Amino acid sequence: MAWKFLIDSDVLAYPLDLQRLIRINGWNAVSYQKSGISPHKPSEVIFADGRIILLFDEQIERKQLRFHIAHEIGHIVLGHYCFDSPAIYEKEATMFARRILMPMTLIHNLQLCTAGQIADVCDVPLCEAEQRLNRYLNILTTRGKFDSHTLELELKRRLGL
Ligand SMILES: [Zn+2]
Repeated sequence: MAWKFLIDSDVLAYPLDLQRLIRINGWNAVSYQKSGISPHKPSEVIFADGRIILLFDEQIERKQLRFHIAHEIGHIVLGHYCFDSPAIYEKEATMFARRILMPMTLIHNLQLCTAGQIADVCDVPLCEAEQRLNRYLNILTTRGKFDSHTLELELKRRLGL
């Protein structure tokens, strides 16, 4: 799902341009501050009258906010259209955010071997980069295979890796 989304959205470079993704998909993003709603969580997505509105707290640290917005994009793309998001949806949206912000093919082919490098190249919080690095190392030591899926290969080609 993450690979398909990145390919369909014509992503060609990193760090991922979230504003562009929101724009080309016809979603709306506005801060709580600008919309006059008091910020009660870092971000959320509202589905109303066929419109998709992504709300976010503009006071959150930039990299953290990028991760929150990618998480909300996950809810949209995965079709989590409900107000009371069950725990499994939250987990899926977070996994989606990690996958689109830090694709394995990017980590693998650029040989990003520290969380700091991943955080820099992908413009994400260090703690999320650490999670992704652990996942990468886990795959490396168990399956040991990357770029074997057609979609992952296509993404690799588009990113010029
Ligand atoms: Zn969520």
